[in-house]
Amino acid sequence: MRSVLVKGAGVAGLTVAHELAARGASVTVAEIRSQIGGNASWLAGGMLAPWCERESAEEPVVTLGKVSADWWERTLPGLVRRAGTLVVAHARDASELARFAARTRNCESVDEEAIAALEPDLAGRFRQGLFFAGEAHLDPRRALEALVDKLRAMGVVFLFEAGEMALSDFDQVIDCTGIARADDDLRGVRGEMLLLRTRDVSLARPVRLLHPRHPIYIVPRADHHFMVGSTMIESDHDGPITARSLMELLNAAYALHPAFSEAEIVETGVGVRPAYPDNLPLVKCWKDGTITVNGLYRHGFLLSPAMAEQAAGLLFNSSAGNSSAGLESENEADRQWRSA
Ligand SMILES: Cc1cc2nc3c(=O)[nH]c(=O)nc-3n(C[C@H](O)[C@H](O)[C@H](O)COP(=O)(O)OP(=O)(O)OC[C@H]3O[C@@H](n4cnc5c(N)ncnc54)[C@H](O)[C@@H]3O)c2cc1C
Repeated sequence: MRSVLVKGAGVAGLTVAHELAARGASVTVAEIRSQIGGNASWLAGGMLAPWCERESAEEPVVTLGKVSADWWERTLPGLVRRAGTLVVAHARDASELARFAARTRNCESVDEEAIAALEPDLAGRFRQGLFFAGEAHLDPRRALEALVDKLRAMGVVFLFEAGEMALSDFDQVIDCTGIARADDDLRGVRGEMLLLRTRDVSLARPVRLLHPRHPIYIVPRADHHFMVGSTMIESDHDGPITARSLMELLNAAYALHPAFSEAEIVETGVGVRPAYPDNLPLVKCWKDGTITVNGLYRHGFLLSPAMAEQAAGLLFNSSAGNSSAGLESENEADRQWRSA
């Protein structure tokens, strides 16, 4: 049986571990933290929104991402909510809605009445919007925890507070350490988020509020919680949320529905998204034989199933990691994959 060390227990590492264990590998997951959480994956919105994301992303995000809701549902039944995404804008920002519509597809225009039918609490607040019926969402924290439970039941071993490992004990190392990975092509994109709680608003699905400077989204969670996200700042600084970002996110939540002004602020969080120059993820095979799965940017839950399948396919269908011909530097990636 092939033994594989997966470094990092974010969404990339856990989805890779799942695909490997499902193919019969003996998998160990080593995580530097003391428990699941605290990483970028823990702070995500959990939107599985390939068509909305196309507004600012390239086509592979759609082709790779449109299978992800099925993967999550198949892997963790009952976790995915297929309620679509609603995109709205205030009348003064109607041009933002037109721009969004021009850059995306697989949606329908909705008027005030249709918006009220989808989200009764938004009745009378927005005259027009876009509805992406084919999109889905999940609670990322429940997904990560449920995935760990499932992996343990499949025989995957977890090592927390893991230090340097004896790599010779494993046939293969797959590095999924996100922004911590030494890779000159990677950069960090800081994302700040809030968790609010109020009984005064109900939403059935993620709602995106367009705005020329501060577009936001709100994702409903269990027990009257709402994830409000998020900033996109070119920085790998993971220090606390700034006053400016907190104000912008709160203002935008208030603009979506004034009742958010009375919500409890349950949590503020900051995650650093790992990104390659084109903001698309990559499976890379390095000279020392390590495979990396990284660069998931703002699409970790959306794209990690497809990338994990690619990494597992690489391991089981070829002699990946054995070739180092033509390399000039120790850190240079040998080959890289993103088939879409
Ligand atoms: C605010 C915010 C909102 C987002 N919303 C969404 C969304 O709605 N939908 C979506 O699809 N994506 C979303 N994303 C993006 C998504 O969260 C990221 O793409 C994803 O988390 C990246 O996952 P990762 O596993 O590569 O990195 P991480 O989650 O950072 O995991 C890397 C892990 O490696 C560990 N590690 C580091 N060094 C070592 C080492 N030497 N040995 C062992 N372990 C190590 C770290 O502790 C960490 O646990 C969002 C991100 C943010 C910040």
